[in-house]
Amino acid sequence: MFLYDCYGINDNGNLTIDGVDTAMLAQKYSTPLYVMSESLIRENIRSYKNAIERFYNSNGLVCYASKAFSCKEIYRICKDEGIGIDVVSGGELYTALSVDFDTDKICFHGNSKSIAEITLAIDSGVGRIVADNLTELENIDRIALEKGVTANVMLRVKPGIDAHTHDFIKTGKIDSKFGFALPNGEAFEAVKFCLEHNNIKLVGLHCHIGSQIFDSQPFELAAEVMVQFIKKISDELSYDIKELNLGGGFGIKYTQNDDPKPYVEYMEGVSRALIAECEKLSVATPYIIVEPGRSIVGAAGITLYSVSAVKSIPDICNYVLVDGGMCDNPRYALYQSEYEACVANKAAQEKTEKVTIAGKCCEGGDKIGENMPLQKAESGDIIAVFSTGAYNYSMSSNYNRNPRPAVVMISSNGLDKVIVKGETYEDLIRNDI
Ligand SMILES: *Cc1c(COP(=O)(O)O)cnc(C)c1O
Repeated sequence: MFLYDCYGINDNGNLTIDGVDTAMLAQKYSTPLYVMSESLIRENIRSYKNAIERFYNSNGLVCYASKAFSCKEIYRICKDEGIGIDVVSGGELYTALSVDFDTDKICFHGNSKSIAEITLAIDSGVGRIVADNLTELENIDRIALEKGVTANVMLRVKPGIDAHTHDFIKTGKIDSKFGFALPNGEAFEAVKFCLEHNNIKLVGLHCHIGSQIFDSQPFELAAEVMVQFIKKISDELSYDIKELNLGGGFGIKYTQNDDPKPYVEYMEGVSRALIAECEKLSVATPYIIVEPGRSIVGAAGITLYSVSAVKSIPDICNYVLVDGGMCDNPRYALYQSEYEACVANKAAQEKTEKVTIAGKCCEGGDKIGENMPLQKAESGDIIAVFSTGAYNYSMSSNYNRNPRPAVVMISSNGLDKVIVKGETYEDLIRNDI
C-alpha cells in the first residue's frame, strides 16, 4: 500500500513512520515539518556496504553524496556506519568538519570551486579532491605547493554515457558542464597535467552518469569505459590508476510507477562488469567508490503540511492549499517531479479525489504535484508527501520569508527527536542590517 515498509497505518487510522503517528508529530512540532527514518537510512547505507563486501571483496568505500541532505546528524550517522561522504561546497565541508568527520573519507566535488574552498579542502586534509577542469588543477597544485603538501586528486571524467532514466545510449555526449571529456582527449590531457605537477597526486578517476536511474546497464557500461581508460593510461603513460569512483544516481520510488532494483543488484552488476573488464584487459581491479545520495535518504523522508483551505475550480481542478510549498520542496517547480501523498489523519480511507497540492508562495508554479490521488481533504487536515528525504531540505529557501521547517528524526529506538531546528522569524532577520 505504501512505497516503503517504514510507513503504516495505526488504530486511529493515522499514517505512521517507523510506528510513530504522523498526525501526533504534526501537532507536537507544528507544520510544515520534515520527518525522517533513521532505520531506513542506516538500512540503505548497509545495503551498499554489504554489496561491496559480497561482490567486490570489500575493496571499496561508500561515500554518501551529502548534497541530497546535509546537516550535522546525517554526517554523524555516516561516521557511525563507517562510510565516507561527498561534499560539494565549503559549507558542506564545514558542516562535516564540525562533527569531526574523518577527512580521509571525504571526497570534495564541485565544478566551480573557489580558491577559498580549495584552500579549506587542502588545509583540512580532505582525502580526495575531485577536480573538474584545468584551471582548478593549476590552483590545486599552486595552493598545495604554497602549503608544502601534496593534494590527492581524482579527475572527474565525462565518459560519454548518456543515462536517461529509461533510455540510455553510449554517445560522445560531452556537453555537460561537469568534468573532462573522455572522447575528445581532454581527460587524457588532464591526466598528463597531473603527472607533470609535483604537488598533485593523481589517485583515481571519477564519473557520475546521471540521477534517478533504474537500470544497472548504464553503470556497467560506464565502469567498462573507465577501465578501458585506466588501461590506456597504463599503456601510454605507465601510470597505474588505483581508484575508480563510479558516482551515484541509483533511483528511488517516488510513485508506484517507479521500479528501481534493490541496490545490491546494481552493485552486483557493476562489480561483475568491472571485474570482467579488468580481467579482459589485464588491469588490476581498482578500489571503488560509489556515491549514492538520493537512494540513502530520499525514501526515508516525508513532509507534513497542514491544509489551510481547499479550493475547487469546477471542471478544472481541486486545489488543496498547504502551509509550505516550493520554499521547502522546489522539485516540482524545477522539473515536474512526481510525488505521492496522503491525508495523514485519514490514511485508512479510500483516495477518492484527484487534486493539485499547491503551496503558499507567490508563484503560480508553486505546486507539490498535480492530478494526485488523495483522500477527501479539508481545512485542518495533515497532508503527508512521501519520498521527500532527498533534495528537499537541501534545496529549500526562504522565499517569501518563509522560515525553513524543522527536521525531526525517528531514531532507531523509535523515539522522535529534532535534528534541525525550525527557523524562527528572528532567524530570518539575523543578517539584515
Ligand atoms: C549528485 C551526485 C551524486 C549523488 O547522486 P544521487 O542521484 O543523489 O545518488 C553522486 N556523485 C556526484 C558527483 C554527484 O554530483
